[in-house]
Amino acid sequence: MIHQDVSLKTYNSFGVAADASLFAVAKSVDDLQTILRDQRFASAWILGGGSNTLFCKTPRQPILHVDIPGLDVITEEGNEVVIRVGAGVNWHELVMWSLDRGYGGLENLALIPGNVGAAPIQNIGAYGVELKDVFEHCTLVFRETQDIQVFSKADCQFGYRDSIFKGELKNKTVITEVCFRLQKSNYNLQTSYGAIEQQLAEQNHHLLTPKDVANAVIAIRTRKLPDPKKLGNAGSFFKNPIVEDKTFWKLKESHPEIPHFKLANDSYKIPAAWIIEQVGLKGTREGDVGTHENHALVLVNYGNASGQEITDFSKKIQNEVQKHFGITLTPEVHFCC
Ligand SMILES: Cc1cc2nc3c(=O)[nH]c(=O)nc-3n(C[C@H](O)[C@H](O)[C@H](O)COP(=O)(O)OP(=O)(O)OC[C@H]3O[C@@H](n4cnc5c(N)ncnc54)[C@H](O)[C@@H]3O)c2cc1C
Repeated sequence: MIHQDVSLKTYNSFGVAADASLFAVAKSVDDLQTILRDQRFASAWILGGGSNTLFCKTPRQPILHVDIPGLDVITEEGNEVVIRVGAGVNWHELVMWSLDRGYGGLENLALIPGNVGAAPIQNIGAYGVELKDVFEHCTLVFRETQDIQVFSKADCQFGYRDSIFKGELKNKTVITEVCFRLQKSNYNLQTSYGAIEQQLAEQNHHLLTPKDVANAVIAIRTRKLPDPKKLGNAGSFFKNPIVEDKTFWKLKESHPEIPHFKLANDSYKIPAAWIIEQVGLKGTREGDVGTHENHALVLVNYGNASGQEITDFSKKIQNEVQKHFGITLTPEVHFCC
């Protein structure tokens, strides 16, 4: 259960080299509680699939890898089914498992890397759907007391790439399982976002199923995003910034073409990829680190970039954006330093 001097290179999708002096694997809730009682793991870094984590250098703290399995149906009522999934289950495997059984709800979230336990942390989202749309509840263990609690959707305080686990409860809990409410028929398919409609039209479907939507999402994502197995990356490095009404209109004066999405509270979400492109950093490279040529928001490791080099490059982007736009870019990626 507890190992020493473990290489983390295959445990992070950036593929950066780092070693953990202490590395524990929890394959059950019992394992997890035992590890958490061990004082050496009091400040351990919780690691799922490592697809949203950047090891800046050799981490100071021990690593606790959550690898709890399990995938089953707990209730079926009318058109709906509630499933329970262990935190260690791979997210995309869960999506495919649900689609193979004809369950709808997760199709737009196909091909997102990582594990189920991390999905509520930033309320993962893609193509107009967020985890909160299908979330029923999750079970977690408090790190300090090892108490087990069930958190409802309201308890989790989900927001855009946000939840209570990034705020008030940051580093205080470990998610052990997540339950989802899915549909068995009368699916509520979301196809209006991005290129999904166009992709579906090319596939020429008559009666659309959740699997068709997932296949369209998979085709788009495969075209657009670099595969971390071939080119190290962690998806979007920064969150799309949200600016106030006044700031937005000032920016629009100098950049009439600025893409934006108006939010309910009179604020505006601006694509970070567009901003990075405007400051001339799309497709640029310094040594083995750079922004992807097709997607400015994706920082990539072209081979042997270190975590520190990726961190430095991300700071350079933040500084340029601040200088030219007066906007602070917030990383979506978690830094384990
Ligand atoms: C190519 C690519 C595309 C991506 N596309 C998207 C996308 O479309 N939408 C999106 O939202 N994200 C996307 N991501 C980001 C990433 O896939 C998600 O954030 C995913 O949920 C991370 O899961 P993980 O298991 O790899 O998390 P990790 O990187 O292991 O951990 C992320 C954070 O969660 C914490 N954590 C992990 N597991 C637990 C647990 N069980 N309990 C408590 N805390 C935990 C960690 O301490 C860390 O702070 C993409 C990443 C890549 C590489």
